[in-house]
Amino acid sequence: MSNDTHRRHDGEFHWQDVEVLAYKQSGEAPFKDVTRQVLFEDPDLGCQWRYFEVAPGGHTTLERHQHVHAVMVVRGHGRALVGAHIHELANHDLVKVPALTWHQFRAPDDQPLGFLCLVNAERDRPQLPQAEDLEELRADAATAEFIRV
Ligand code: MN
Repeated sequence: MSNDTHRRHDGEFHWQDVEVLAYKQSGEAPFKDVTRQVLFEDPDLGCQWRYFEVAPGGHTTLERHQHVHAVMVVRGHGRALVGAHIHELANHDLVKVPALTWHQFRAPDDQPLGFLCLVNAERDRPQLPQAEDLEELRADAATAEFIRV
């Protein structure tokens, strides 16, 4: 059976009655091949727990915001830019994205990157990099090579 109390894992990184959603509205922000599942969003929790999956070769939006992300990789591996650093991510690694810190996740070309991400239920909208932000980010050669916008 399925209800709010127990949702079975009923496929590879899919849960009963949990809808696989577009990561963002198309055209809202640049991203490539990402899906989103909201696992928990009870108002009493004050937070949302989501599962994101980046398909091979895909990437999340390069963005920053006041709210913090608490991330655990649960499928595959990949890389993440957080602030000035590019991190090699292995399965079960933890990533914290602090407030107002540029971040982007990328899957490798040959397999997906799946991660759990905890956020505040009430949160500010992501900011996208402006020309001057991109100039600053690209001042670092590794970051310049990494980012997708
Ligand atoms: Mn974010």
